[in-house]
Amino acid sequence: MTSELINGTEISKQLREELTVEVAEMVAAGKPKPGLATVLVGEDPASQSYVRSKQKSSAKVGIESFGFNLPAESSQDEVEGLVKELNEDPRVHGILVQLPLPAGLDEEKVLNIISLEKDVDGFHPVNIGRLAQKGREPTFVPCTPAGILYMMKKIGTQLEGANAVVLGRSNIVGMPMALLLVGENSTVTICHSRTKDLPAVCREADILIAAVGRPEMVRGDWVKPGAVVIDVGINRVDDASRERGYRLVGDVNFEEVKDVAGAITPVPGGVGPMTIAMLLNNTVRAAKMASE
Ligand code: NDP
Repeated sequence: MTSELINGTEISKQLREELTVEVAEMVAAGKPKPGLATVLVGEDPASQSYVRSKQKSSAKVGIESFGFNLPAESSQDEVEGLVKELNEDPRVHGILVQLPLPAGLDEEKVLNIISLEKDVDGFHPVNIGRLAQKGREPTFVPCTPAGILYMMKKIGTQLEGANAVVLGRSNIVGMPMALLLVGENSTVTICHSRTKDLPAVCREADILIAAVGRPEMVRGDWVKPGAVVIDVGINRVDDASRERGYRLVGDVNFEEVKDVAGAITPVPGGVGPMTIAMLLNNTVRAAKMASE
């Protein structure tokens, strides 16, 4: 292994410790405890597990969680009605609607009505729009890209003038990541399923961010020596040697790329822990703004 391992678990732990102190100071100063409402519609096991781990992490830093579970057959009006109530609830500083919503519900309409000041996931179209505009500041930035940027800054990545290649253009990862990097004065190329000669485009990257959801797609010979490689992917692959029958791998072939990259995130233990830490960070920011 020649590259630096970017330890998201450790970086997120430091951030969570800082937030714990900040929350304790807020409460000691007589300010309200930050509150995060989670809205889960339906019973998708992966979504349930994400929501549980967000609530558990919130409690550890002193954020109060308010969990709302609606049945999968809930109507658009019922989901929107709950979000409107939470917009008005002074105990709630951040609202997280766990995506994806069950088929038949209009996700965009739900995200649209979350109050901008409580949009701790950063998915409100106005927040994304501001991210895309020069000289405008979104109130919140989506947690996964914000966590990646935080991590890169922590390890001193040269962002200004760097060639950054982002694999993936989703609303929650690829596109906001690309916009954030533009804001940091990187020169950004966004790739997707119709991009021609992906390996050649990737080889130009000083910073390579893989968010495609394809197990170990990025190979060693796609990477420029010394590049910073961020692996967002979380993919299950069959593994009979594991008790649970599978293991988690990223979108990057770690074994090949670790010998070429200058720095690389592992999976697990890279981007994942940062995503949750940024959600907590956004919630504490929201509570601070509400009490100012
Ligand atoms: P999406 O499925 O929404 O988007 C995938 C993107 O990758 C699309 O833009 C798609 O292109 C592109 N793509 C797919 N196949 C290829 C290919 N063969 N070549 C080039 N581009 C391709 O995924 P998400 O952005 O939601 O998530 C990406 C990965 O990150 C997943 O593994 C997910 O589990 C993980 N993830 C991890 C998080 C974390 O905290 N660590 C948080 C969120 C996601 P097109 O637009 O043309 O279809």
